[in-house]
Amino acid sequence: MGVEIIGENGGSLSFVLSDASVSLANAIRRTVIGEVPTLAIDEVEFYDNTSSLYDEIIAHRLSLVPIVTDLSLLNFKDECSCEDGCPSCEVELSLKKKGPGMVRSDDLKSSNKNFAPIPGVLLAKLGKTQEIDLKARAVLGRGCDNTRWQAAVMGYKYYPVISISDDCTVCGDCVKACPRSVLAVKADKLTVVSERDCILCRACSDVCEPGAIKVDGDEHRFIYELETTGSLKPREVLSKALDILKEKADELSSKGMI
Ligand SMILES: [Zn+2]
Repeated sequence: MGVEIIGENGGSLSFVLSDASVSLANAIRRTVIGEVPTLAIDEVEFYDNTSSLYDEIIAHRLSLVPIVTDLSLLNFKDECSCEDGCPSCEVELSLKKKGPGMVRSDDLKSSNKNFAPIPGVLLAKLGKTQEIDLKARAVLGRGCDNTRWQAAVMGYKYYPVISISDDCTVCGDCVKACPRSVLAVKADKLTVVSERDCILCRACSDVCEPGAIKVDGDEHRFIYELETTGSLKPREVLSKALDILKEKADELSSKGMI
């Protein structure tokens, strides 16, 4: 089994997983979206809210603000040695703003600079006499418990395998039919120019002579697209997910279940 990174851009990552089964490919996807821990606001205490939004709506919006998370510095609250929350398992944030103006995640002040909210998320609009004053607590959690802790979204597809037979007349219809510009005619020959961009729609083979172009997905090779919320870096999410998956497999193995 092998992983090859084929693209990385800020919060997104593309990679190819080779020599793997479909069940393993899906297990990696499910671990990324459901098991990788991140920090999110779980409790909000309002001191004042004269905005046009209910407390619950603001609390819900706050819970979805991604917070930069350093997993090496925090414990899960239910695994921490404290009784009811401490700086090792909780991060306190406060927000106090008077209108008029917009309230954004930038206005949330974190008690620990290692865990800062991602700026620019709009939370509310305040009128002239309106005010929001609150304190929030963020804790570690997992996407399988609630979406607010989901570290990333990730999808995968079979690696496209395109074969062109000798029946091809180089008419060029398939080149026009392809929505992803995967094919081109070069030197009077039909060529695959970007195999990885193929979405297996088979629009090319549908407009072509039967059997001239064959498009299949390799069931042991997968192309993944991963995009994080900003809490963790994409490589960190993938690496953590693989560690978690390995731990689970080791546990099952130690119990003789696999
Ligand atoms: Zn604690």
